[in-house]
Amino acid sequence: MEKQGNIRIASENMMPIIKKWLYSEKDIFLREIVANASDAITKLKKLTDLGEYTLPEGEKYRITVTTDEEAKTLTVEDNGIGMTAEEVEKYITQIAFSGAADFVAKYEKAGGEGIIGHFGLGFYSAYMVSDLIEIYTKSYRDGEAAVHWQSDGNSTYTIGDCDKQTRGTKVVMHLSQGEEEFSKEYVVRGLLRKYCSFMPYEIYLDPKSELKEGEENKPVNTPFPLYMKDPKECTEQEYKDFYRDTFADYNEPLFWIHLNMDYPFRLKGILYFPKVKKQVELERGQVKLYCNQVYIADNIKEVIPEFLMLLNGVIDCPDIPLNVSRSFLQNDRQVQKIAKHITKKVADKLNELYKGDREKYEACWNDLATFVKFGCLKDDEFYGRVKDIIIYKNLAGEYRPVTSFFGEEVSAEDAKEGKQPAPVYYVSDESKQAQYVKMFREAGMDAILCDTFIDPHFISYLEYKNPTRVRFLRIDAEVDEALREADGGDKELEDLFSAALDGKKVKVRTEKLKNADVPAIVNVSEFMRRMSEMNSFYRMGEDAADVTLVVNTANAAVQALKGAEAERARDVALAVYYLALSAYKQLSPEESEAFTQINARLMQDYLKK
Ligand code: ADP
Repeated sequence: MEKQGNIRIASENMMPIIKKWLYSEKDIFLREIVANASDAITKLKKLTDLGEYTLPEGEKYRITVTTDEEAKTLTVEDNGIGMTAEEVEKYITQIAFSGAADFVAKYEKAGGEGIIGHFGLGFYSAYMVSDLIEIYTKSYRDGEAAVHWQSDGNSTYTIGDCDKQTRGTKVVMHLSQGEEEFSKEYVVRGLLRKYCSFMPYEIYLDPKSELKEGEENKPVNTPFPLYMKDPKECTEQEYKDFYRDTFADYNEPLFWIHLNMDYPFRLKGILYFPKVKKQVELERGQVKLYCNQVYIADNIKEVIPEFLMLLNGVIDCPDIPLNVSRSFLQNDRQVQKIAKHITKKVADKLNELYKGDREKYEACWNDLATFVKFGCLKDDEFYGRVKDIIIYKNLAGEYRPVTSFFGEEVSAEDAKEGKQPAPVYYVSDESKQAQYVKMFREAGMDAILCDTFIDPHFISYLEYKNPTRVRFLRIDAEVDEALREADGGDKELEDLFSAALDGKKVKVRTEKLKNADVPAIVNVSEFMRRMSEMNSFYRMGEDAADVTLVVNTANAAVQALKGAEAERARDVALAVYYLALSAYKQLSPEESEAFTQINARLMQDYLKK
């Protein structure tokens, strides 16, 4: 006997919203329906564990998804707990309905985009793609009749008996016009892979009744994914296989972190450090968020610290409230704790590797460095945990912790009197700064190699965090005491060069360098150069740099200028300047032209003699 009923008056408002607003993510309906099937099995399993139900011999929990292109239907069947007629009335027409109505209300309030992964919409989401849905269900309870329910989702439904023989629920979705793609096997397979890969019961898609000999029906999902296992029981090969299968990346990951905790919140997952493909930019990774093995969404910045999204990973956290608005999530204490915990685990793992296997750590550092530095810039706490294991190469090509280059602490009193921390010199371009590197080596001094795009930001950050311990100077910023004799200044030469360079934006200073080979070097004030780099970054012009020509009085050519004929001395002084300038930067077309002409004159002169 069939009976009719009204769902609820409010439905006239809800359905158009579900259909129109959520339409851009209509795929999620399959997740919701399969998750319901999975929940129904979990409920039965619990009853079985409690001894309140005995599963018939040989029966296995399973979910079957069937597509029918001709009939334009998609069917999801489970062998879970099933429902009685009263339960269908209560759960489907009342609870599921008001659940969906609640969701829509929250969704409207959150301005459309608010709810992560549109999680929690439930059964009625299937009306995004269906005109009519039928439910065939039979409760696990003895003697209960099988029930048939159907509705177009608008306002009325019918409910009655049916002859379903087996326990469980079958949901038949009659696809709307234009949604026929959901009756195609390959489309549904793709969606099951995306949303249901790790659901806890085997899911079979279109199982053919007659399998060929030796052919086995394989589930589309992995009911017990690696991340759910006890880390002690996972092998290296399993981690690598899981990585490849989950992220379709055939490069092996560098290493991974298996998260596994139950208290004070439940958190499981694996984070992988991938090999970096390009050194010059941050590459976005993919951190997939799951809730009880149900896929929610990728790269949810409300839950996972932004810098961790450079990694690849799977995180399953059932304690995150998901059918709430994003702004709620952002301010949720629990979520903040979870994010902090993940960050701590990552830092712990890096420390463990540093202490336990320095060789591997150094070998991976190129791939890790950007991630670690970016993490520090984004998160002070992370910096606190990794500050001693951030390494830089020195001039000998050896990695050392950056803190080991820092000098002694400058006391507050000394700082008041203008004392600065000892400089740490750095090389940003080994070939351009080769001349300086050579001088440093000869003087037995060291410098660090800072040549990635993030280093300029990162060293500023280190200075900001350690104002009394360190200041960084590019190797060409100043002539360190160790590179020069105590007083080698020479007024006559200084005047001569100043006169020759009159009208150019350059200061002149004379020093007696320990290295007598170079006639002069260019120094660029660290502060002004950083400013100018920032300006050029914002395309505001590059002329802010404060350039000094340091003339080396130890150099024979420079000394020979004294007493030389004025015109020639001027040419040579200019040649010395352009030569030094070209070691610092690429000459402008005008500079280049001037340098060429001077050189031509000098050559002519030289040959005439
Ligand atoms: P939720 O799953 O969030 O509770 P739904 O709207 O998806 O919300 O479903 C409402 C209720 O309907 C479920 O809580 C469950 O009691 C019942 N239900 C839905 N699908 C099934 C199913 N396949 N088997 C048994 N009960 C189901």
